Amino acid sequence: MPSLRDSLGAHRSSPDSSSVTRTTDVVVVGGGQAGLAAGYHLRRQGLDFVILDAEPGPGGAWQHMWDSLHLFSPADHSSLPGRLMPTQPGNTYPDAGHVVEYLADYEKRYDLPVQRGTRAEAVHRDGDRLLVEADSGTWRAKAVVSATGTWSRPFVPTIPGRGIFAGRQLHTVNYRSPVDFAGQRVIVVGGGNSGAQIAADLALDGDVDVTWTTQRTPRFLADDIDGRALFDAATARRRALDAGRGDTGGVASLGDIVAVPPIRTARDAGLLQARLMFSRHTATGVQWADDSRSDVDAIIWCTGFRPALAYLAPLGLRGPRGHVATSGTQAVGEARLHLLGYGDWTGPASATLIGVGRPAREAAHQIARRVSR
Ligand SMILES: Cc1cc2nc3c(=O)[nH]c(=O)nc-3n(C[C@H](O)[C@H](O)[C@H](O)COP(=O)(O)OP(=O)(O)OC[C@H]3O[C@@H](n4cnc5c(N)ncnc54)[C@H](O)[C@@H]3O)c2cc1C
Repeated sequence: MPSLRDSLGAHRSSPDSSSVTRTTDVVVVGGGQAGLAAGYHLRRQGLDFVILDAEPGPGGAWQHMWDSLHLFSPADHSSLPGRLMPTQPGNTYPDAGHVVEYLADYEKRYDLPVQRGTRAEAVHRDGDRLLVEADSGTWRAKAVVSATGTWSRPFVPTIPGRGIFAGRQLHTVNYRSPVDFAGQRVIVVGGGNSGAQIAADLALDGDVDVTWTTQRTPRFLADDIDGRALFDAATARRRALDAGRGDTGGVASLGDIVAVPPIRTARDAGLLQARLMFSRHTATGVQWADDSRSDVDAIIWCTGFRPALAYLAPLGLRGPRGHVATSGTQAVGEARLHLLGYGDWTGPASATLIGVGRPAREAAHQIARRVSR
């Protein structure tokens, strides 16, 4: 089996220590689905590139999802460019393990040069190049694609009294299964797909006393509409905005809850009644808007993520909520930098498997034009 170094042999460098500066056309930072889609299209453009990924194994965030998670779209609507995701026997909506296998197979099939266990720590301007400093060395590149996702930056809103709650608090990223909460009283916060799925997971277990709370009334999609509609709506919305129209052109939004089978079961059994968000913490639980109180053992925050862009700080591009202003995928303040996969602001539905292909292609085309100048 080729070593990591062998697999980098296609590059114009032969690194053997972290003090070596290597040179390549493009450094892709992040080897999840967005980084792989970028790699697929960069290869088609004939560019020299490396993909740096902090994880020891393939699959990006999918390696860390909770046990019962299933995609909200069928396999044939969850594919990266060039290779259809195979169906998973017995599951219309594949589980996270199936996605990890698919991504592992994808990078092998296209022989993508992923350097695992490598974290990019900073990107600097260096004349006509960008310098990517990682924990295992430095790369000089004509362009950088940032595809670091959001999983490593869980977001928890600030609620009065947060510090005084003595129980356990965790985020979606730390949730695994109801077994960890057997016999406990748990509040799940968040009106999106993660909150609804985790609340259903706990409620269906029967051994957890779960309260689901949301900031506003949750929006469920009709049972016959799945994640495909979310992708179509994101695309329609982008087209409408590009055409200067204010209408969104879609019936669904990425925040809407897809009625995957466990959600339907929990909802139909009356177990998914959301309560409006509590107003403050107490030492033993929470206080609701009507001043009543609930004592709980744990609060699970399913309240989203921020983009993992801290390593771009030296470029001075980050604005509100840690975003970088982009035109398509290209950073407005640094034309050699592209951002991929974080959300609609880097391409319609670009944070989904099926949605990331198109912006990845556009980024690779733009980079190829720049590199060939
Ligand atoms: C609960 C949940 C359910 C979802 N369900 C679906 C669904 O059903 N269908 C769908 O299409 N999408 C779904 N998504 C959305 C989406 O597919 C995932 O968020 C996806 O993992 C994003 O891929 P990514 O490549 O952008 O980021 P990630 O998968 O997070 O990959 C980023 C990679 O970059 C690495 N990295 C980060 N920082 C650095 C650094 N500085 N240096 C080097 N490497 C770094 C990380 O370790 C990671 O390996 C879901 C998301 C969540 C959270």
